[in-house]
Amino acid sequence: MLPLPDFDLHRPQTLPEALRLRAALPKARILAGGTDLIPSMKQGLFTPQDVLHIAGLAELKGITVNADGIRVGALTSLTEMRRDARLATLVPGLVAACKSVATPTLQNMATLGGNLLLDTRCRFYNQSQFWREALGGANAKPATGCLKCDSAGICHIAPKGKGCYAAHSADTVPTLILLGAQAELASVRGTRRLAVEALYGEDGREAAPDRSPRLLIAGDEVLVAVHIPTPTGPTVHRKVRARAAIDYPMLLVAASAEGVVLSSLGPRPQRVTGIQDSMLDADIDAVAQAAFSQAFPLATHVWASTWRKKMVRVEVRRALAELATLNGDPR
Ligand SMILES: Cc1cc2nc3c(=O)[nH]c(=O)nc-3n(C[C@H](O)[C@H](O)[C@H](O)COP(=O)(O)OP(=O)(O)OC[C@H]3O[C@@H](n4cnc5c(N)ncnc54)[C@H](O)[C@@H]3O)c2cc1C
Ligand code: SF4
Repeated sequence: MLPLPDFDLHRPQTLPEALRLRAALPKARILAGGTDLIPSMKQGLFTPQDVLHIAGLAELKGITVNADGIRVGALTSLTEMRRDARLATLVPGLVAACKSVATPTLQNMATLGGNLLLDTRCRFYNQSQFWREALGGANAKPATGCLKCDSAGICHIAPKGKGCYAAHSADTVPTLILLGAQAELASVRGTRRLAVEALYGEDGREAAPDRSPRLLIAGDEVLVAVHIPTPTGPTVHRKVRARAAIDYPMLLVAASAEGVVLSSLGPRPQRVTGIQDSMLDADIDAVAQAAFSQAFPLATHVWASTWRKKMVRVEVRRALAELATLNGDPR
């Protein structure tokens, strides 16, 4: 059994109270549904002295649909999202993404905000402290496993590299990017909106010398909501994983008329570039080939990277065929 380390729990009841605590306790961790944070704390990946449990913040809850589009509060659970009839009609691809996270039990606790800000994953990182120590670090004493845990360690995926390539693994994000979603972020300094596409940096770590860190939000910011413009057409979500439930993705593909986004291949989702403007009249094989040539999965998963790369071509082809069918053009 992995015990949870000791910490001080804070339970703000309003957003202003939470923002003041966030500013006063910069090293605190935010706890939403806890389905990622709690296991990570048990594994010793994070050992915060202070934890801010934000479940009491009414401002972060619920789904609103109006002429401006869709607003989903950051604390809205994935179960609420997948059961919402309005989302099922307007954004079925996003609902499919919510359904593909972990298991229904975890979806009851898991929030949309926690999904957007989910830590990056790697087979050398998401392990118990004991497992990681057995790997040894380059210079770390005691050895802690790898560069993502300890700046004195090495990356076991690319030992000569200076970066962390742990994979972005949040199911809802590729679809949200294609929907043009924006994150509403609040701090004691005010509120701003940032495109979901611009939330992620090039390195899998929280702080990375010479590379942008895994999240491009300030340390005192809280994610309040996700805003989605009223969609003009369908979005398709596809996921490759070892089993049909529980497992994190090895590959995510989202497709809409606006383009194709891949994820779980590196620290941030990537848009397939160099393809025609609309996917509705695209040459499916040409887009699948472009995606294949732009995908460089590393050995962050136990499954062979060469196979994952080949699956990019297969899954992009399937996603675009599905999209064509939804648009009344079966190919
Ligand atoms: C067995 C298992 C399988 C899983 N499989 C998948 C999967 O297939 N796909 C997938 O995408 N995820 C998966 N997950 C991860 C997780 O369940 C989901 O990503 C979930 O949506 C995370 O939401 P949460 O509310 O539980 O996040 P938490 O664990 O509470 O938080 C996650 C991170 O986000 C931060 N955070 C949360 N909310 C906010 C906020 N409002 N403002 C600022 N920071 C915030 C936290 O500080 C933390 O760093 C799995 C988890 C488990 C245990
Ligand atoms: S990619 Fe390298 S540094 Fe990052 S978690 Fe994996 S082994 Fe550690």
